[in-house]
Amino acid sequence: TSAEGEEPRVGRREAKIDPEIQYRKERGNGKEHLYMVVIGHVDAGKSTLMGRLLCELGQVNKKTMHKYEQDSKKVGKQSFMYAWVLDETGEERNRGITMDVGRFLFETKSKQVTLLDAPGHKDFIPNMISGAAQADVGLLVVDATRGEFETGFDLGGQTREHAFLVRSLGVNQLAVAINKLDTVSWSQDRFEEILQKLKSFLKQAGFKESDVTFVPCSGLTGQNLIKAPTENELLRWYNGPCLIDVIDKFRSPSRPVTKPFRFSINDVFKGTGSGFCVDGRIETGVVNIGDKVLVCPNREQANVKSLSVDESPKTVAFAGDQATITLAGIDMQNVSIGNILCHLQTPVPVSNKFEARIVVFNISLPITKGYSIILHHQSLVEPAVVSKLTSQLNKSTGELQKKHPRFLTKNSSAIVEITVSKLIALEVYSDCKELGRVMLRVGGVTIAAGLITRIIL
Ligand code: GDP
Repeated sequence: TSAEGEEPRVGRREAKIDPEIQYRKERGNGKEHLYMVVIGHVDAGKSTLMGRLLCELGQVNKKTMHKYEQDSKKVGKQSFMYAWVLDETGEERNRGITMDVGRFLFETKSKQVTLLDAPGHKDFIPNMISGAAQADVGLLVVDATRGEFETGFDLGGQTREHAFLVRSLGVNQLAVAINKLDTVSWSQDRFEEILQKLKSFLKQAGFKESDVTFVPCSGLTGQNLIKAPTENELLRWYNGPCLIDVIDKFRSPSRPVTKPFRFSINDVFKGTGSGFCVDGRIETGVVNIGDKVLVCPNREQANVKSLSVDESPKTVAFAGDQATITLAGIDMQNVSIGNILCHLQTPVPVSNKFEARIVVFNISLPITKGYSIILHHQSLVEPAVVSKLTSQLNKSTGELQKKHPRFLTKNSSAIVEITVSKLIALEVYSDCKELGRVMLRVGGVTIAAGLITRIIL
């Protein structure tokens, strides 16, 4: 054998494909992909707004629209027709297993946007958490109607809680639709009043002023959604972008393709062929067809048989993609929602104990050592306890305020130790943002959100 034959062949066989080059080759020409979660108080007009937007963008065919129009006339509530777009599409896409977050796609000039929402669900928060945990950006919808904005914003309303939640889960860019402005005759004063209140609140919640854009609109009449306004009263004082342009201007998140492969499973279902499918998001890294993967925390091995991203088949999928993976070589019963897939060579840490830096929400009972909670980690929901109160931190600076506090009251910030009822796959926030976030809930209410700072093995 010649030297010529040996050297490069070995080299070539061992060389790993550079994931960044691979990403550029595969996706370089396409539109950037963005996941957007829609949040806001119930009845703010989220479904109507998104339904109308999808219709105007031609995502819903004329025949279907006509049917909704007829149906909504029959029930005497024509405005429902747009909201139904989301509901119906959700049903059609249902594969027999309840999907906790509906998904809809639309395009702007430079982006392909996947909408994460659970419209129509009144118990919105758990759905929103799994949506927000996957989201890059958020759309906050508020009702400008007199009295209604106040109901949603003040105590008991969901506007603040949703905004806090998405920020705690890492969403840092927000479009705010000041919606239903038709009900206040497109009043600039009303728009400004709401804008000022939200501005100071959102700043407190941790959003940078430059990362929040306010848009006056009406989902019902379609004003200022995909083209410049036509209402004279609105034109008189507004010359900013319409909603779709604000969405288009969001910065695309970086795709951590060079990090180890991590995929969080948020649905498991039987596919059409052999094997079965898991739905979820590639948090970091790259996965190729044929890869051997571990299903964690159980560390069972499986093979990647096929891949698709937003319903189209692929040979490779990247960090940031919402993907469906067909798995083979493993029993479907051994895979559950909340599990994490990783590569054999770079396993994800597994533990039932970790330290987290948390922000405590507006709770009535203080958190003490031994406090029982329900832990939400990606799509995983597990009973857990706050097993140690390590330190209390200054809320705005993060500096140490007190060691071993006896309890934590509302709106405080702290480092705590959490013990989960069983092993989970997790990461420290600085290694993997997505797998390093947790939510603490009690009796259906979110009491705190946090970031994992240390895994205790
Ligand atoms: P969601 O709970 O946030 O999804 O809100 P919906 O989309 O279901 O809307 C709640 C109610 O507000 C419905 O009766 C809608 O017809 C009404 N609505 C929604 N958007 C607008 C709007 O822009 N203007 C007016 N006047 N009413 C609206």
